[in-house]
Amino acid sequence: MANVSLNQIRKTYPNGFEAVHGIDLEVKDGEFMVFVGPSGCAKSTILRMIAGLEKISSGDLHIGETLVNKLAPKERGIAMVFQNYALYPHMKVYDNMALGLKMAHIPKSEIEERVKHAARLLEMEDLLDRYPKQLSGGQAQRVAVGRCIVKRPGVFLFDEPLSNLDAKLRASMRVRITELHRELRKSGQPSTAIYVTHDQVEAMTMGERICVLKDGTIQQVDVPTTLYERPVNAFVAGFIGSPEMNIRPATVVANDGKISLLLGESTLIDVPAFYAEKLSGHVGREVKFGIRPESIGTPQSAALRNDEDTVLSQVTGTIRLLEHMGNEVYVYFDLEGHSFTARLMADDARMLDESMRFKPFTFSFIMNKAHVFDGETGMNLTL
Ligand code: ADP
Ligand code: MG
Repeated sequence: MANVSLNQIRKTYPNGFEAVHGIDLEVKDGEFMVFVGPSGCAKSTILRMIAGLEKISSGDLHIGETLVNKLAPKERGIAMVFQNYALYPHMKVYDNMALGLKMAHIPKSEIEERVKHAARLLEMEDLLDRYPKQLSGGQAQRVAVGRCIVKRPGVFLFDEPLSNLDAKLRASMRVRITELHRELRKSGQPSTAIYVTHDQVEAMTMGERICVLKDGTIQQVDVPTTLYERPVNAFVAGFIGSPEMNIRPATVVANDGKISLLLGESTLIDVPAFYAEKLSGHVGREVKFGIRPESIGTPQSAALRNDEDTVLSQVTGTIRLLEHMGNEVYVYFDLEGHSFTARLMADDARMLDESMRFKPFTFSFIMNKAHVFDGETGMNLTL
């Protein structure tokens, strides 16, 4: 069993800075967990505490049944892939992969078997005789992953392993690492993985579950679709998704008992009945209104999504810019002094062209997909 449990884990650096504020997290045996958050939110600090490279200030860390707070890195059954690969330049790939096993006094024949097996999994059998300087960035990264696989660790730790690669290679390595994790699980080799990234696309595509961090605290831990559809607060809502959710100030108002949102001076937005109930305690207060770009359409395109829950609210904005992506068009428009982004299918945007810039245009907000966040705490009021 290689589940990883963090119980009230805290980190205060020697200079007195508290980087991690007492976090609880259970990474399940065999799970692929992603830590995501902006630079400086303590992703690396937490990973390094799990690895044993950084002292835990307080709290309990278990790997399987064992309390590992005081165990050295090599006694924890983990292997770590770093951003800069950390290969030995004077050793061939084979020896780079074999080194850890040699030091653990594993018999030569078994070392050979494990290295060849890992090389096969990573499709790098033809690289074993090369030196690191003869490898491309992607190949070097594969060797770094291979070096971990041969150790048969209970837990793999990855700290932004793809951030030195170009976009195309990053996308293919992303798929390879995900597939590899699935293959190891199928082959019966335990392979709990914790993968750190600041890139929400990597997080969404790779994570079986994602832990969103901010300033050394956990914001939300869940499967990707739930994070996307039911973010607990404005931070998670804004961090996950691209282009990002439009989050703008609004006021909760009541007219003849009917609750709506007032954007700016005069734009009233109808809300679904079930939101209205949740917002009734907030009348007169400033909140944050959140809507994803794909939940804004033209009245025609939005009406096509007419499942029975669909609640549309029409607003008139001024188109500022159209960005053609091929299959989609991003429409940047101003509404009551705030900038919004809509993401339309190319077919639905056919009537939009450059001549419409700086002219009023009616958009439909798909309100059952919208969110309202508390103006002060940022908590999602519509869950
Ligand atoms: P991330 O990996 O999410 O970018 P880090 O874990 O590297 O974040 O850092 C978290 C916070 O802890 C940052 O504010 C960083 O400046 C601080 N920090 C990191 N290492 C040290 C250290 N050795 N001493 C003091 N503060 C540190
Ligand atoms: Mg880091």
